[in-house]
Amino acid sequence: MKFLDKKQIEEDFRKGMQNKEFQVYLQPKFDTKTEKIVGAEALIRRNKQGTFLLPQAFVPSYEKTGVITKLDVWVFDQVCKTLKRWIQKKYKLLPISVNESRRHLYHKKHVQELERIINYYHIPAQFIELEMTESAVVNNIEVAKEAERKVHQIGFVVSMDDFGTGYSSFHMLRQIEIDVLKIDKKFSDQVLEDETGKIILESIIQMAKRLHIRTVAEGIETKEQVAYLKQIGCDWIQGYYFARPMPIPQFEEIYLKPKKEE
Ligand code: C2E
Ligand code: MG
Ligand code: MG
Repeated sequence: MKFLDKKQIEEDFRKGMQNKEFQVYLQPKFDTKTEKIVGAEALIRRNKQGTFLLPQAFVPSYEKTGVITKLDVWVFDQVCKTLKRWIQKKYKLLPISVNESRRHLYHKKHVQELERIINYYHIPAQFIELEMTESAVVNNIEVAKEAERKVHQIGFVVSMDDFGTGYSSFHMLRQIEIDVLKIDKKFSDQVLEDETGKIILESIIQMAKRLHIRTVAEGIETKEQVAYLKQIGCDWIQGYYFARPMPIPQFEEIYLKPKKEE
């Protein structure tokens, strides 16, 4: 999307919604030891007149203009609707994480809106995890603390996405109470060849254990990485090795529907 101004981007979003171009995909997360499914992350996709778009094609411009708040509320609503359906169909209830843009988590109104939606669908808040990026926290620690207290009060799980990509990750850990650390793909990428990378990753996992924070390794693509993460005690794994993000009906088909007896 080149050189569009705020009005055009808002219009583009409105049209996309009107034409039902947005779709929430789910990528499963697995327990490292048992390799059983334990949760999922909601990731936005768009099918714009036959062209399949990943978030990188539209999320940055939505963030710049603030349109992202509307999109994230919509994603949150879709996720609650999905959990509601799982409850009604008596499927196994898995927690789902949603990405929260740094733009809006600190707006009291936004958090109130999320609370209103879970109450509307009667979803227990602990089945929803809010993923924030550390940059969002680092930029304004006081406001971030306040937001974290409020979302914890409601009962949401709080996770730090892309851990290790910012410059004040450790300072942030002292300031904000978080439940989950999502370790960025770049830590797991070269870890098998690189002794320094191994030492850092193992130390992050040890530290998280002592702080009672769950670790989730993102972007895991090989069996060697899985074996290594098992060995060093990383709790959960999310990555192409197990499964790519997929449309919700496909996710339900593979992971939730009771299998018919042969
Ligand atoms: P993220 O939250 O860190 O999400 C993980 C990204 O890694 C996803 O990219 C996922 O498809 C990708 N991934 C997972 N496993 C693997 C793997 O094994 N290998 C590789 N190469 N990639 C893997 P995706 O879906 O393109 O999303 C990119 C980013 O866009 C997300 O990063 C998140 O920051 C943002 N995003 C996605 N959906 C939303 C949304 O609904 N709202 C907001 N505000 N941001 C979103
Ligand atoms: Mg994420
Ligand atoms: Mg991430």
